[in-house]
Amino acid sequence: MLTALDVVGNPSSVHAEGRHARSVLETAREQVARLVNAKPSEIVFTSGATEANNWVLAAGWSEIAVSGAEHDSVLVPARANGARLIELPVTRDGVACVEDLVTKIAPAGASANGGSLVCLQIANNETGVIQPVAEVAELARSLGLRIHADAVQGLGRVPIDMQALDVDFLSLSSHKIGGPKGVGALVVCDGVELRPLIVGGGQERRLRAGTENVAAVAGFGTAAECALRDLSSVARIRNLRDRLEAGVLRITPNAVIVGRGSPRLPNTSCIALAGASAETLVIKLDLAGVAVSAGAACSSGKVGESRVLKAMGLEPELSQSAIRVSLGSETDEKDIEAFVSAWSAIAAASAMAA
Ligand code: PLP
Repeated sequence: MLTALDVVGNPSSVHAEGRHARSVLETAREQVARLVNAKPSEIVFTSGATEANNWVLAAGWSEIAVSGAEHDSVLVPARANGARLIELPVTRDGVACVEDLVTKIAPAGASANGGSLVCLQIANNETGVIQPVAEVAELARSLGLRIHADAVQGLGRVPIDMQALDVDFLSLSSHKIGGPKGVGALVVCDGVELRPLIVGGGQERRLRAGTENVAAVAGFGTAAECALRDLSSVARIRNLRDRLEAGVLRITPNAVIVGRGSPRLPNTSCIALAGASAETLVIKLDLAGVAVSAGAACSSGKVGESRVLKAMGLEPELSQSAIRVSLGSETDEKDIEAFVSAWSAIAAASAMAA
């Protein structure tokens, strides 16, 4: 990124400096495309996944089907854009019902103007529960519907293959894979029409106006390359996550590992403990040097009732206590021991243990 900051040209300029900036951009496009097995020409850089999600949802659909566990950047524009909206329930284990998702939406045709869209995230951001996107896409495809998958939480944690998933649109965010914040992409499958959200310039194949943030995009590209390499450490991370959960359950047997009955991301653990407060747990763990988030924390940092956990049917007492623990590629045994000993100390001090 520092090298890219020194590239003074505008990627849309034809002079040598411009071409240099263009080559930085195109290298990153190839790196990001490789991570999700898409074609570089399908990658459209955006300011992040919020923009990518808003863009797809705002494209003039007549009907949209979404699971109730989607991120707000999908649900809010879905509710706002005047389309007939079908919000579908998820099971107690957090999985969207495949058939419900597509069969409740009339197969009105697959055009972006007035067609039908099905949205399903690859994995949930609060629980890590993996959704059956490939199955939904297959069914939706047979009904002539367009399919959008928010891949933000799954990116770099599970292999994501745009071709195998057979979705039309895929939203990506750089900062979830260790890249800079404020940059992401929408992968738009070749041949699929989507009207731009941001207009007034010919950048990104006329799909997203505005001079590209070359340094941020370069960082995203490098992060994508690292994420692809780090996918090989998935089994190690899962093992560590399982050890963390085993430690928690040993100390507090009444703790609930949310979504444990479903396929989950290897690095995510959503832990709920009736009687505890998520906010207090976050603060106490922070004081012990462990950074976790409250499962229900919204973007303002306040802890409210989690819409996702509520959709899963979790009792308020549990959902208000839920924290999300995320492991990274550099997490090691010592980190797990530190977490478990912090949990043990907090439990002893507050009589959390059953
Ligand atoms: N979708 C999901 C599932 C997320 O978890 C997030 C962010 O946390 C977003 C979308 C928004 O991404 P960004 O921060 O790049 O706008």
